[in-house]
Amino acid sequence: IFVLGIETSCDETAAAIVKNGREIVANVVASQMESHQRFGGVVPEIASRHHVEQITLVLEETMKQANMDVSEIDAIAVTEGPGLVGALLIGVNAAKALAFAHRIPLVGVHHIAGHIYANQLVQDMKFPLLALVVSGGHTELIYMKEHGVFEVIGETRDDAAGEAYDKVARALQLPYPGGPHIDRLAKQGKPTIDLPRAWLEEGSYDFSFSGLKSAVINTLHNAKQRGETILPEDMAASFQTSVVEVLVGKTIQAAAHYDVKQILLAGGVAANEGLRTQLQKQVEQLPEVELVIPPLSLCTDNAAMIAAAGTVLFQQGKRATMALNANPSLLL
Ligand code: ATP
Ligand code: MG
Ligand code: FE
Repeated sequence: IFVLGIETSCDETAAAIVKNGREIVANVVASQMESHQRFGGVVPEIASRHHVEQITLVLEETMKQANMDVSEIDAIAVTEGPGLVGALLIGVNAAKALAFAHRIPLVGVHHIAGHIYANQLVQDMKFPLLALVVSGGHTELIYMKEHGVFEVIGETRDDAAGEAYDKVARALQLPYPGGPHIDRLAKQGKPTIDLPRAWLEEGSYDFSFSGLKSAVINTLHNAKQRGETILPEDMAASFQTSVVEVLVGKTIQAAAHYDVKQILLAGGVAANEGLRTQLQKQVEQLPEVELVIPPLSLCTDNAAMIAAAGTVLFQQGKRATMALNANPSLLL
């Protein structure tokens, strides 16, 4: 079966066609990053406007890449939330219009379910599994007993991992989004600066990054007042080491405790090389556990992941009506 995925929750206008939930037939992403860069973050009003301009072009390009006609599509999967309401609405309305005009079944998808199902485009899921979701707005450990069932066993109590990356990058005067810049700098520096690790209470799988972020900002500020220089690459390496240590440490603990068959990495921060490398290394402690990491292009926002998740939901019989609406705070 062929599923058309549509994703407009944030600053990427994306559409994709996925065959049998596994195979990418077409995958188009129009990023608006440049328009938001000078504001140092995503401006919701600008995002909506770009989506309106891009959505038809992106859908046309997707059909062209696939060399398919809309009549060959078995279902349309669209991100219904969470995200920016004005941005989500553009995708939801485009999906509804297509579904209505061509009488194609419609499925609403949770954006984070999409990030997790990006892994299904790499490797078949084996249950039970544990997904570490690290993105611009989320940091969660999610336990899955079966397809489509998500149990959040840990989450951030303050900033998301990506948010912390972006804020620390800003403090280091790096462009937005800062994650990739810190990742690159970290490789050139040494983790010589003492920064906290937020392990929280014994046995907790929750995360916290705001203390670490404040420690970075304070350390930079104090050094500046004393006329000392801190190499940005050393700060990047120190920050990244702290983030990765806690993310990987808690993931390994949870994977052992829940006796999972697979660990999946998901979300934009999954593109982080330090995280990928450390997780790969640490998973070796658990020889029965298979680690799946999507390629970089499937870590950040895309519609192939929405189509992959939508395929499973469609096969489980889930359908949306024409009353489908954007839900900015949709729960998983
Ligand atoms: P959400 O999925 O929670 O709604 P989002 O869709 O905005 O949020 P993603 O697109 O999944 O988030 O991820 C974007 C985030 O990933 C940004 O914060 C960005 O800095 C971060 N990021 C991207 N590449 C890297 C990298 N190599 N290292 C660290 N962070 C990265
Ligand atoms: Mg984005
Ligand atoms: Fe995302």
